[in-house]
Amino acid sequence: MRTRVRAVLDSPRVRAESATIWAAAGTGTGDLPHADATYRALGGAGLLAPHWPRAYGGLDADSYASATVAEELALHGVPDSARVNTVDNAGATLLAAGTPEQRARHLPAMARGERVFAVLYTEPEAGSDLAALTTEAHPTRHGWLLNGVKSWNARTSSATFGICAARTPGAGNRYAEISLFIVPLRAPGVHVEPIATINPELFFHVRLDDVALPPDALVGRPGQGWALLSRALGLERTGICFAGRAVRWLDRLIAALRAQDRLPAAEARHELRRLDAEVRSCRLLAWRAVRDVAEQRPDASTAAAAKWWASELAQRVARSAWELLGPPPAAGVGHAQFPDLLLAVREAPGLTLAAGASEVLLNTLAADLLDGGGDPWEREVS
Ligand SMILES: Cc1cc2nc3c(=O)[nH]c(=O)nc-3n(C[C@H](O)[C@H](O)[C@H](O)COP(=O)(O)OP(=O)(O)OC[C@H]3O[C@@H](n4cnc5c(N)ncnc54)[C@H](O)[C@@H]3O)c2cc1C
Repeated sequence: MRTRVRAVLDSPRVRAESATIWAAAGTGTGDLPHADATYRALGGAGLLAPHWPRAYGGLDADSYASATVAEELALHGVPDSARVNTVDNAGATLLAAGTPEQRARHLPAMARGERVFAVLYTEPEAGSDLAALTTEAHPTRHGWLLNGVKSWNARTSSATFGICAARTPGAGNRYAEISLFIVPLRAPGVHVEPIATINPELFFHVRLDDVALPPDALVGRPGQGWALLSRALGLERTGICFAGRAVRWLDRLIAALRAQDRLPAAEARHELRRLDAEVRSCRLLAWRAVRDVAEQRPDASTAAAAKWWASELAQRVARSAWELLGPPPAAGVGHAQFPDLLLAVREAPGLTLAAGASEVLLNTLAADLLDGGGDPWEREVS
């Protein structure tokens, strides 16, 4: 699988597209170009969603295969929010609970790399505590009426549809009221506005004003949304994409230092060696979390540890790049020759928030520790 993915990602067309994207990362706060040719090339070979059935454009492969694709995209420096949102979130949800018509309509186009979905979950007052979301969907004679505001939705400008979490009032329990809907982003009442941040892939606010949806916009049953979106987060939470970034960025940083023919001070060399050891072991932990998903026994603690460590570590590598090469954009030789390191510096701050903020993941680990053996200071020492 890795050889096949690399053959696509190392092709001249895909490499040229990546170079254009990295160059754009150095020129302001606009959205990065969508990796259209890369997605279509992977999609054409069945490699964008290899774990999906062949009938929907996959290869009937397993979760190891999709993790390999995710890792290789990170190792090649290809921005992958659009794949994560489309395949790992929206696609996984449709595969799990979509009607045959919904699957047939969307999955093949997603797997070919021709259709991007946005994920419309987070709201201004509902991020880590997503179950506090206030967007509402009310049943009407013709389907559903959707109202609310979503925020921090990545890559919405490349998407034609969104998968949206909304409250379908009635069940009386804040989790059991959440349902998922497919929203065409060009529908009347959908207002998409960019939010400028340092993050290289733009975020968007999406305002939903009396958006009329047909009955078949609902995915799964009313109230099934929480279970579906939690399950889809599984692969993102293994930390595999984050560990892949840490590996690549450290390689590129060392290559940039070598190209400058500038040996860092002994202290910095020591930190680079330490980072190298941590990056290798963190990657192993991420693969252990992937194994848990592939063998259908996902473990929340392993995944939380893997995602927490990988994202914090990738951030440390990006910080070292900043310190050793100088701050962008006036960073001179290092960043000019290695523009994807600029992408790293801009992307790093968001890594410890996306797919579970660090403190929230540490809460998960702490809760598990307390369940499994209590306060470590109180535990009997063998
Ligand atoms: C790169 C990136 C891509 C994203 N893409 C999307 C997308 O496509 N679609 C989408 O819907 N959303 C997306 N998000 C939003 C993301 O899901 C939220 O940023 C995340 O859920 C955190 O929510 P928040 O930003 O509101 O921060 P908050 O939840 O307000 O957290 C702010 C700070 O408080 C801390 N904190 C929160 N709760 C606790 C607690 N219980 N205990 C201790 N500390 C706590 C957090 O760790 C964090 O440091 C993306 C975010 C990023 C960074």
